[in-house]
Amino acid sequence: MILRLILGDQLNHQHSWYDAQRNDVLYVMMEMRQETDYVAHHVQKVVAFFAAMRAFAEHLRDHNHAVFYFALDHPENQQTLAENLRFVINQHKVTHFEYQLPDEFRLDEQLLDFCESLPFTSQGVDSEHFLSERGELARFFTGKKTYLMESFYRMMRKKHNVLMDGKEPATGQWNYDADNRKTLPKNHQPIAPLLFERDVSDLLNLLEKQGVATIGNIDPTAFIWPVTRPEGLEMLRFFTESCLPYFGTFQDAMIPGGWSLYHSRLSFLMNAKILHPLEVISAAVAEWQKRPDVVAYAQVEGFVRQIIGWREYMRGVYWAKMPDYKSLNFFGHTRKLPEWFWTGRTKMNCLKDAIGQSLDYAYAHHIQRLMITGNFALLAGVHPDELDAWYLGIYIDAIEWVEITNTRGMSQFADGGIVGTKPYVSSANYIDKMSHHCGGCFYDKTQKIGPKACPFNALYWHFYDRHQDKLERNPRIGMMYQTWKKMNPETKAQIIAQAETNLARLDEL
Ligand code: FAD
Ligand code: SF4
Repeated sequence: MILRLILGDQLNHQHSWYDAQRNDVLYVMMEMRQETDYVAHHVQKVVAFFAAMRAFAEHLRDHNHAVFYFALDHPENQQTLAENLRFVINQHKVTHFEYQLPDEFRLDEQLLDFCESLPFTSQGVDSEHFLSERGELARFFTGKKTYLMESFYRMMRKKHNVLMDGKEPATGQWNYDADNRKTLPKNHQPIAPLLFERDVSDLLNLLEKQGVATIGNIDPTAFIWPVTRPEGLEMLRFFTESCLPYFGTFQDAMIPGGWSLYHSRLSFLMNAKILHPLEVISAAVAEWQKRPDVVAYAQVEGFVRQIIGWREYMRGVYWAKMPDYKSLNFFGHTRKLPEWFWTGRTKMNCLKDAIGQSLDYAYAHHIQRLMITGNFALLAGVHPDELDAWYLGIYIDAIEWVEITNTRGMSQFADGGIVGTKPYVSSANYIDKMSHHCGGCFYDKTQKIGPKACPFNALYWHFYDRHQDKLERNPRIGMMYQTWKKMNPETKAQIIAQAETNLARLDEL
């Protein structure tokens, strides 16, 4: 008997494993405390993974594949990968073990150790999901300190012949960022998101009975996220038909209550491998080809860039830099996350909205993660470990390979500039430009000093001031220090004092 392991994020219906139905193969899948407990996860994240795994097991059985499924409360479930595998091996006279290469370093190590302990042969096979190999980015950037995403993205476009005309980009231009990223007009009514309505009461009862600690909110009788392949394809269709025409334009926009705007919300489906990145990109390109008058090229290029560019790039950085990446802390930040990150109870409108919706939907779009929560935490000097635990727990799409590179790298600059060329920080200016949050805020976006001053403003200068030795020589930041130096010394002292006051009472902001 051959035993084949399917991890919770390996729900790839199109994997060549399933091409033939074989009598000598047993598939094993497991819900485990090892996975539910390594951080406090959002309840919707745990439910989404378990529901998707159960649907996948069902799909395999419907196609005459044999599946051993450890539900969380299965009487023999030992709650760890190795022990569960040993149990199945003993029960089924297994003589060969196969697994798809995992995307997380810790699981990779566990599986390598496990295979070494086996008295028979084993093999790790490709998950047939990503568009680049694990080590491809490291080879591409050999000898470089900073990994420039744009050059990796162009290489990937050429390699997969996406939006290309021979060796050149289809329109003669690689990057349409300048056409995108507009703010939402005040009277603009964004499209209502496509929501599903699955009853997940059974899963919730199971989590409760087993004492799994979770965060966030959920409607047990109307779970909104797609978890099966047909639902995934419906979500993809909804995105290309209804959201893609505005995707790039409003990619960075934020409005109170507009929790997903024109974003695809396909990250969970892709990270669990229910959808393949190439089929997602192809659907978007096909929509542009079908309706070029409705879907402008800039929208589709902006979307393709996120997937064939950023997503593959982050995975490459992960495999190039782990395990050291997990402990990088370039600025030496040490603070704890303010308490309201877990409740959303803050007077700062932008943060209240971004955190509140994360607790309600296990989702925030990229700019909310980067320029609201991430921005504030970086300005406040929060320890990257605290942030990793938060981002890894709260978002439905959070898996370490893509969470940690985005959090430590892009958002916190804790890698000292591998992913980003400068830290993503801003004062209220940027937030006000891209959102409709500041108007109704307790704080005043224009003030730097005083009890009503927006905390971002003083913290922004405090950040640059305290990290001058590390940042001043960065050519993309030098100008900022010129402005800071020219500021009146008394004002500077007041700003620093204001920031210190904010830092001393972070929980009350
Ligand atoms: P869309 O805006 O519709 O984009 C389409 C797709 O592009 C996404 O589904 C995603 O697969 C990909 N994509 C876009 N930006 C990125 C990026 N920076 N890195 C990798 N892929 C990208 N993404 C995750 O999938 N899991 C995470 O745990 C995660 N953590 C993040 C933490 C921080 C601090 C930040 C700043 C970003 C994080 N991201 C993460 C990246 C990005 O925010 C999400 O992929 C995106 O918001 C998911 O929503 P969407 O599917 O609607 O994306
Ligand atoms: Fe956020 Fe400051 Fe604007 Fe309030 S004033 S919404 S805290 S940026």
